[in-house]
Amino acid sequence: MEISQPLSEFNWIPRPRLLALRRLGIETVEDLLSHFPRRHEDRTEFPHFPREESEVPVCLCGEVIKTSLRRFGGWKKIFQATLQESQPNALSEPLVCRWFNLHYVQKMIATGQRIVVFGKPRLRGKRICMDHPEFEVIENDEEISIHFRRITPIYPATEGLSQRVLRSMVYRLLKEVADQSLETLLPRALMNGDMTRAAAIRAFHFPESWEQQGGAREHLVLSEFFAMQILIASRRTDASIRTGQAHCGPGALLNTFLKSLPFELTGAQRKVIAEIRRDLGATHPMNRLLQGDVGSGKTLVAIAAMLLVVEGGYQAAFMAPTQILAEQHYDVLRRWLDPLGVRIALRTGTRQEESGPLPLFASGERQIIVGTHALIYESVSFSNLGLVVIDEQHKFGVAQRARLIMREPAPDVLVMTATPIPRTLTMTIYGDLDISTIDEMPRNRGKITTAVRDESKLSEVLTFLRTQLETGRQLYVIYPLIDETEKLDVKAAAAEYEVWRERLHPFRCELLHGRIPAQEKQQTMQRFRRGETSALISTTVLEVGVDVPNASLMLIEGAERFGLAQLHQLRGRIGRGEHKSYCILLTSAQVKETSAKLAVLETTSNGFEVAEADWELRGPGDLLGTAQSGLPALKIGNLKSDAHLMRRARAAAVLIFEADPRLESPENQRFRRLIVEQRGHTFSSVS
Ligand code: ADP
Ligand code: MG
Repeated sequence: MEISQPLSEFNWIPRPRLLALRRLGIETVEDLLSHFPRRHEDRTEFPHFPREESEVPVCLCGEVIKTSLRRFGGWKKIFQATLQESQPNALSEPLVCRWFNLHYVQKMIATGQRIVVFGKPRLRGKRICMDHPEFEVIENDEEISIHFRRITPIYPATEGLSQRVLRSMVYRLLKEVADQSLETLLPRALMNGDMTRAAAIRAFHFPESWEQQGGAREHLVLSEFFAMQILIASRRTDASIRTGQAHCGPGALLNTFLKSLPFELTGAQRKVIAEIRRDLGATHPMNRLLQGDVGSGKTLVAIAAMLLVVEGGYQAAFMAPTQILAEQHYDVLRRWLDPLGVRIALRTGTRQEESGPLPLFASGERQIIVGTHALIYESVSFSNLGLVVIDEQHKFGVAQRARLIMREPAPDVLVMTATPIPRTLTMTIYGDLDISTIDEMPRNRGKITTAVRDESKLSEVLTFLRTQLETGRQLYVIYPLIDETEKLDVKAAAAEYEVWRERLHPFRCELLHGRIPAQEKQQTMQRFRRGETSALISTTVLEVGVDVPNASLMLIEGAERFGLAQLHQLRGRIGRGEHKSYCILLTSAQVKETSAKLAVLETTSNGFEVAEADWELRGPGDLLGTAQSGLPALKIGNLKSDAHLMRRARAAAVLIFEADPRLESPENQRFRRLIVEQRGHTFSSVS
């Protein structure tokens, strides 16, 4: 039997099951063998029925002595089954299991059966109950040894495919498949003893002890992580052996620029500029991620990099995720660079503009082109592209990035992000990039005080804001329209605006949201920047990069509806000048968890700490889609709890490429195959 063999070739698997399997994405022997249990139940020996409730779910076995079906409120139903311990002990009370509105359960459970249940025991009145336990009916057939009297695997199941059926199929396949057809994909350095992949797969499905289960899982997680890291390492190596050009000028232009600044660079800025400069001067293409918290001064670093390239005789492109940001960057660049005679052009979906002593229309005459990400899709022809700076990478897919850097000859690429990413994720999502981190804020920054307040306190909050506005500060009000791409209700936005105008009267307010025409938006921003308006009532279009130092106040309505990382981003719009800043998170939900969540922002202003907390709360899925990362989805490993294994896998992959960059040695051929195979899988998401 080959592991690539389709399951449809086995006549012992009936057609309806094949269809159900397909719904789980399982088509071949290999797919089914890597459909790993999501947990295991210890069914070697069942504990006695508990007499107290517990937060930890337990696995119990008993005989059904009574069932009942009750209706309530029209056609809602509760199905109830009372279980008695199979070997009753003097102390044990029956256990009541209840399922609400699950019509299929009542068809599966009947008096006289023995069943296994898994759930949290709860005290209801005087009785111990389990609500919605997972359950399995024991049927006394020859297969009983597969399902019971052992540590039993529990699989992700689907309709038409019960635990029992899945378990029996996996069991049978494992019996029929030969060890040799399951190639071990781990390098020696990652192996624990001599457990092969075959042994690990067998032991993880049907472990003989918890210890064995743990060892098998580690092997499988390491295999999965290693496959990912060897792919990343290969991308990295590919990029570094591509020949590019050195794009770095001697630095006189940069020095002139730095002398013209009204402030000193921070040590961290100096450090990362040096790192970038080294890359720009090398002949292989730069592929670097610049991370730094909001307000840490990344734009300045980008300008420095672009000036080096311009002086070297090449063009630079500066791409921003939104129109507002592109225009802001354009303004900033012109302010700093016009005096140096650098020629800059703006290219966005709706606006094209050129600066400089002479209006030259061929883009080849432009030294720096600023634009939205759309820039790469439109046919802006760069005659001489040396550097691409991508601002706020998380809004920009890996696929798009790949497309950009595949140009010939390869430009240097600098990706900037203000979304701090926990380290394990950096290793995965940005594993193919070199990383520079700005870990220091410019000095003389006013502190931001963050406070969570209930909506009922609005009038006090308003009084406070007014006293601040009177001293000349400016305010952002963010109202919760989480996603600008969702159909934005323009009327609701206008109504919101009216409310705020009244609340803040006589201070001048303006409205900002995604549906306002670009031209108008731009003017609104200009008036705010010049201090002609006191408050901007805005959606999250404001989220990234907007920079108005005098705006030191922010009020976020419905703060509970945003994620922590997003709130941190928003908050980064203030605290940019010398004034003390205040961020008020207004919530309407008095849920304990919500305020606990938001309290993190009251206690820390460090983006990495916020990111870790956010990750804790939401899991990595929300932070970055796997689709966007261009990496295969994980089947068994957990990026957070298995972070230590990811580190080991990465180190091993890096070592292999260091010793043999083209994977030519015989023992590395299996890794080469692993890479080719994965590239096949991920091609569709990358291209
Ligand atoms: P971000 O990293 O969020 O993109 P910006 O580059 O927009 O931050 O910088 C925020 C503000 O800090 C800008 O007004 C910028 O001019 C200013 N700035 C940058 N570097 C320094 C520095 N070394 N000292 C003082 N202010 C700085
Ligand atoms: Mg920025």
